[in-house]
Amino acid sequence: MKCCWLCDVVITPENNSKEHIIPQAIGGRKTVSGFICKRCNNKTGAKWDSSLLKFLEFITVFVNPSRTDGKRTPAVNATGDDGLEYLVHPRSIENPLVPVMKHPHVVEKSIGEDRGIIEVTSGSEAETRAILEKMKKRKYPDIDVDEEMANATRTKSYPRLTHNIEFNRNCRKSIVKTALALACSNGVRREDCQYAIDYLQRPNSADYEIVFFGGKQIIPTPKDWHSIFTMQVENRLVSQVSYYNGFHFLIILSQDYVGEFVAMSYAVDPVSGMEIDRGNWLEVFGIDDDDL
Ligand SMILES: [Zn+2]
Repeated sequence: MKCCWLCDVVITPENNSKEHIIPQAIGGRKTVSGFICKRCNNKTGAKWDSSLLKFLEFITVFVNPSRTDGKRTPAVNATGDDGLEYLVHPRSIENPLVPVMKHPHVVEKSIGEDRGIIEVTSGSEAETRAILEKMKKRKYPDIDVDEEMANATRTKSYPRLTHNIEFNRNCRKSIVKTALALACSNGVRREDCQYAIDYLQRPNSADYEIVFFGGKQIIPTPKDWHSIFTMQVENRLVSQVSYYNGFHFLIILSQDYVGEFVAMSYAVDPVSGMEIDRGNWLEVFGIDDDDL
């Protein structure tokens, strides 16, 4: 009898779910079934995974992962140092990742009885022209749109963007869930991961450490892959989860692991969606794959 790793309900064909080990929205492909129930899948996707995606959203528009569900990476909101709101659309061949002004900026100033100045700032020539044409039609019939456009200032400088990111408890829980999902798909038993499951089941649990380390990984992977490496270290079951090869987390799944020696890995290229064989990664620890 299999139980959901998060809520203890018995997994049946009706409530079984296919959980993406790494969230699909950042290019994860591999799924695991018999891990969590449908209800937990929906709940944790909306709460935990969405917080993680928010944390990673700026690098996600930069990498622009491919997805199997046909959805596109959403544009990211940011504030420019000019005080205006911008949108950054996912990078593609047609879109070289430049911020687009979210709302054009229009200022009308009076400089005399029936004289005035209109300042229009927008993200494109077409948008400025459309604004001027609308104003001409509605309010200022004397505007010579062609002449104004010919005299307009064009700049290719972009504002410095401010974007707030928050790494919160929901992000942590999503990452722990990912490490557990890989363990489950490799046959590790639920009862051997109770330490991490306890953390996920307690709503306000704070006494669980996820080590977030920046630049250097223990087990290196090239390019902007996502990767998970899990192995037994003495009586612990430890995972390294890396997103975009830039955000690395060390997670403990078990503090009193007594099963057989385990070592597992999963690495995926978020752009092509290809699963990548990391080769003999255990050599980092002086362990030869062939000895297992
Ligand atoms: Zn459940």
